[in-house]
Amino acid sequence: MRKVKVTTSKEGLGEKERATVVELPRKSKSISIASHMEEIIAALGEDPQRDGLIRTPQRVEKALHFLTSGYTADIGEIVNGALFDVKYDEVVIVRDIEFFSMCEHHMLPFFGKIHVAYLPDEKVIGLSKIPRIVDVFARRLQIQERLTQQIAETIQELLNPRGVGVICEARHFCMMMRGVEKQHSGAITSAMLGAFRDDKETRHELLSLVGQRSTAL
Ligand code: ZN
Repeated sequence: MRKVKVTTSKEGLGEKERATVVELPRKSKSISIASHMEEIIAALGEDPQRDGLIRTPQRVEKALHFLTSGYTADIGEIVNGALFDVKYDEVVIVRDIEFFSMCEHHMLPFFGKIHVAYLPDEKVIGLSKIPRIVDVFARRLQIQERLTQQIAETIQELLNPRGVGVICEARHFCMMMRGVEKQHSGAITSAMLGAFRDDKETRHELLSLVGQRSTAL
């Protein structure tokens, strides 16, 4: 069973909303995750001092810092001038970008594929930059809907293209391992801006190019 969810973005972001796209929360370096992990392990009824667990708190801290490294990533640094003035007005699609994120409700992974499309106006971005932009927003505590939206808004902000379409297909460990335990259910989210939102044909073209059934969205 596939759950389908559609997110439609507001067009024409105000200055304040644009700023939030690239504004990054700061993490506190002074709080030790490792010392708390020791308590959590003990609270689970385990012995934090036994061989296999003795260095686990430090490993978890390191892993969590990596999995949330998107908070301190700098979009400008990542793009690093790879914006080019090109007379190209056909759709650009980078599909099947693998991503791994963590749901903010359970701090369990969700993962899948993201397809990013845009209709250039005067600028294009180096194709390799798009998966890196995906990582900036995936490596945070997220919900799938916001992840999809933030990627679309960032492309919009960087390129001011005629349209942006982002489609995200994901499976959530919090659904697969606990709760409903539906191991084959997935969620699809999309964020459509500009021509992809306003023009049905352009949207359908995108959906057929990424192999989605157009009736699903
Ligand atoms: Zn969850």
